[in-house]
Amino acid sequence: MNLQLQHQLLTSLISLSKIRPSGCVEYVGKKKSGNYGYIRVPELHKSYITSRLMYELTFGSIPEGLNVLHKCDNPPCLNPMHLFLGTQQDNVKDAVNKGRFQGKGELNSYAILTWDKVKEIRAECKKGWSYESIARQYGVSGACIRKIIHNETWKE
Ligand SMILES: [Zn+2]
Repeated sequence: MNLQLQHQLLTSLISLSKIRPSGCVEYVGKKKSGNYGYIRVPELHKSYITSRLMYELTFGSIPEGLNVLHKCDNPPCLNPMHLFLGTQQDNVKDAVNKGRFQGKGELNSYAILTWDKVKEIRAECKKGWSYESIARQYGVSGACIRKIIHNETWKE
């Protein structure tokens, strides 16, 4: 992709986006199922999911087999700071953590956490660790930790 095309695509993505108070930059153009933004790039004879295109424009090409996932759990969001790469399996885990799957707690076979781990997480948070650092330690998202701490998931 040449620089001129990159610039042109970035401009069209931004012109079709709205900044939300959360910091999300939501694509308000065409949407695909799952609420993902969708853009055709005739120059490349290709269509892109907008968050994926934004990731490529910002950080470079995406290794094969990886998906662009949202820390903010907001599919139309394009804010590069809210995007990260993961496998399809991460995507499933991420969806579970963010409560997009039915089923709660240990009954959910997809869940990565257990009640013991949740108790540890709550204790670590009291010691003053940030959500992000706890999240990294347990291999879940910051949003997942926030929900645990706020008792939105894993209610005791
Ligand atoms: Zn976002």
